[in-house]
Amino acid sequence: MSKELPNLNIVKVEPVLLHAPIDTQVMTSFGALTKRAVLLVRVEDGDGAVGWGEVFGNFPMHGAENRAHLIRDYLAPITLAESWDTPAAAFAAMTQATHIMTIQTGEPGAFAQAIAGVDIALWDLAARRAGKPLWRLLGGQGDTIPVYASGLNPRGFEGIVEGKLEEGYTAFKVKIGFGRDTDLAALAGVRRLIGQYRLMTDVNQSWDLETACGNWPEYSQFDLTWIEEPIAADQGLDSWRRIAALPGAPLAAGENLLGDVQFDHYIAAKVLAVVQPDMCKWGGFTKTLPLARRIIAAGQSYCPHFLAGAIGLLASGHCLAAAGGGGMLEIDANPNPLREQLTGGLPAIVDGNMTLPTGAGLGAIPDADFIRDFRSEG
Ligand SMILES: [Mg+2]
Repeated sequence: MSKELPNLNIVKVEPVLLHAPIDTQVMTSFGALTKRAVLLVRVEDGDGAVGWGEVFGNFPMHGAENRAHLIRDYLAPITLAESWDTPAAAFAAMTQATHIMTIQTGEPGAFAQAIAGVDIALWDLAARRAGKPLWRLLGGQGDTIPVYASGLNPRGFEGIVEGKLEEGYTAFKVKIGFGRDTDLAALAGVRRLIGQYRLMTDVNQSWDLETACGNWPEYSQFDLTWIEEPIAADQGLDSWRRIAALPGAPLAAGENLLGDVQFDHYIAAKVLAVVQPDMCKWGGFTKTLPLARRIIAAGQSYCPHFLAGAIGLLASGHCLAAAGGGGMLEIDANPNPLREQLTGGLPAIVDGNMTLPTGAGLGAIPDADFIRDFRSEG
């Protein structure tokens, strides 16, 4: 694949931080999103060609500002220092050059997120130079992917669910972990609204092992396609194995795993029916696409985690289309101009599927006027 790519001679790497207010807070069991932050990365080569990436920026509150500084202070100088055969070569150089710094700072996740965003921008640029959509450049078989409406709050979801049904969604995920009464009312309420469509739920790591084992049969009665992150992601494989062995809903996780070694332990242990890497948190295309193929080869389902802006969403869609496997792309159902308006609108949902834009690279670019309106110092 690398031979069809022109060399990347990057002359500019720029973090672009955007903020938008939120009318209705997005609840999770570990905290609420009180404003929207999206950290983009813009790369430019010596011919003036441009690529865009996105860095995970949902939590903590000012994490995106920190990642913007990491890009400016550490990753831009590395990316500008050489001409790269492939984005993967730049990924390896960024990872190697910051390795000790990630240990010293105790911030391996923050650096991994920043590197992921630069990687996505370099792949977008490479595909634009090659004149191909990313999913095609990366070996995908088609441009249409299953999607689901995610991020439903446990209360007040009715209007959003009805709107998403009208838009064409046929799968939904509601957040729980707010106590038994609230949780069961949320599951029953969404199930009632969506009929036989697929329903998933996300505990966001809020149960202990005993609670998870106790709740599993009762919660599974809502015919759930999966229950996500019932316990803390760092609980260890033995705890996850116990939950995976319970009768009832399949088990999903992955947004809080980091690195090939950790993911491969989980894949080999066969504890997760659904594996959910977030390519903007770790890996970009360089690491996430090979990981996705290992997940699928192991008979598990690759369903990208993503809940932020339009660039990261499209990147996640291209990665899923390249990997195949029939997994669903997560799309936040809550209003967010940084997702809905950043690139002038996302593709329509038809019968539960999204067809990716036809242009080269990610197939869409951020709107310059929009960036001017929503840009923050960072
Ligand atoms: Mg989740």
